[in-house]
Amino acid sequence: MHEVTVHPRDAQSLRTIAGPDAGRRYEEHLAAARGLLEGRSVWHVNSTSEGGGVAELLRSCLGYLADDGIDTHWAVMDGDPEFFTITKRLHNRLHGVLGDGGPLGDAERGQYDEVTRSNATDVGRTVRAGDVVVVHDPQPLGLVPILRSLGATVIWTCHIGADTPTPLVHSAWDFLLPDARAAQAVTFSRSAYTWKGLDPERVRVLPPCIDHASPKNVAIDPERTFAILGAAGLISNRRDGGDAIFARSDGTQAHVSHRAQMTEDAPLPPDAPLVVQVSRWDALKDPLGVIRGFADEPGITDAHLMLAGPIPGSVVDDPEAATVLREVNELWESLPGPHRRRVHLANLPTEDTEENAAIVNALQRHGDVVVQKSLAEGFGLTVTEAMWKRRALVAGKVGGIRDQIEDGVSGILVDPRDLTAFGNAVEAVLEDPSLAAGLGAAAERRVRDRYLAPHYLGAYLQLFAELA
Ligand code: UDP
Repeated sequence: MHEVTVHPRDAQSLRTIAGPDAGRRYEEHLAAARGLLEGRSVWHVNSTSEGGGVAELLRSCLGYLADDGIDTHWAVMDGDPEFFTITKRLHNRLHGVLGDGGPLGDAERGQYDEVTRSNATDVGRTVRAGDVVVVHDPQPLGLVPILRSLGATVIWTCHIGADTPTPLVHSAWDFLLPDARAAQAVTFSRSAYTWKGLDPERVRVLPPCIDHASPKNVAIDPERTFAILGAAGLISNRRDGGDAIFARSDGTQAHVSHRAQMTEDAPLPPDAPLVVQVSRWDALKDPLGVIRGFADEPGITDAHLMLAGPIPGSVVDDPEAATVLREVNELWESLPGPHRRRVHLANLPTEDTEENAAIVNALQRHGDVVVQKSLAEGFGLTVTEAMWKRRALVAGKVGGIRDQIEDGVSGILVDPRDLTAFGNAVEAVLEDPSLAAGLGAAAERRVRDRYLAPHYLGAYLQLFAELA
């Protein structure tokens, strides 16, 4: 277990960014929680400090609570490759898919418990009786009973789930239920994900948020967008323009200096219409289907597609990324020349998390259509991020995305296994700028009303106050 420093971030904007009502509610929950948490710490525990939605959420939002007087800490558990293979298996099954097909028997439980025990030693040194601990997702769930025995108040937060609980989903629940039952409260991103076997009184629905002020989401003008994309090697540098500067969360400025590893015939022309998907290299994000749906749509003739994800190996709890990326590269190689020329694969640099975020920010803003054609999705932060940037989205009608996007109003939802429907929807949005603008404007409103930090943090503070 190791601790990630939480840097306080000016929380003043939380009072206004989502409107006065949300700001007032946040203030009320904060005042109540602050009194009750006097002398206690709030811990968040997850399994990676980089890559994926949970790390994104914690990195960006915890600093606000620290600034608002809550003693907030972030701890990341350590695990070995066997452990993360087992937890990825659980992750896939919770989404209702088989994943690597491996077992979840006594041997796997033994390995899971052993890694849990080795992390528990550090936990015992840092967490004190009375502290509140939020444990995220299946990897550190085994710590919940241990934390309870230390006298902590424990919330388990599950960011993933399946629309319909199949026997595969149940097999993951069976593995995890005894530990989940030990938590005083369990939160799910949407109500459909709630597990049978948990006390309904302890269950809350709490969708995640994005941080409006982070390098990932802060507004940047088109000139800077081009400059950042050029510096990162994502577009051909034909335009002279501004500096590739981005603002860090601590208020300082930095230059984009690392370049993406590109797989492409030629760099993306800056003026080409662009379809973008940003995500980890994960089969459930269906990068192969995105390429096929795009390339097979005869109506799309001049638009380009960019699939972007972190360099494999940079996300420690995701052992399948290298395999998925290899399959994506093979498909790209096999495309006929005219299609291949319009498909770009980008491995984004991860040396500097905030630089990576700034590149994602620019790429999402540059996309004429942002797609998230996931086959399963707990709650897609990439979707919320692109909605906040007023992008027109075409996304899989699965999981949390169905809550995030109202079909035809704040984006377009498609059956992600229907590649023709996907290609048609992308083409329709590319062809109709006024449709794209309307979807984008409604998308931004929806995020402002539901998925910003005052909503999310306020709901947690309310829960802390209830339990403390
Ligand atoms: N992300 C990133 N760089 C990348 C790919 C993804 O910063 O190269 C971020 C993305 O912007 C989002 C998060 O990783 O904030 C992914 O969260 P999401 O909920 O969409 O999916 P998850 O990875 O948790 O399944």
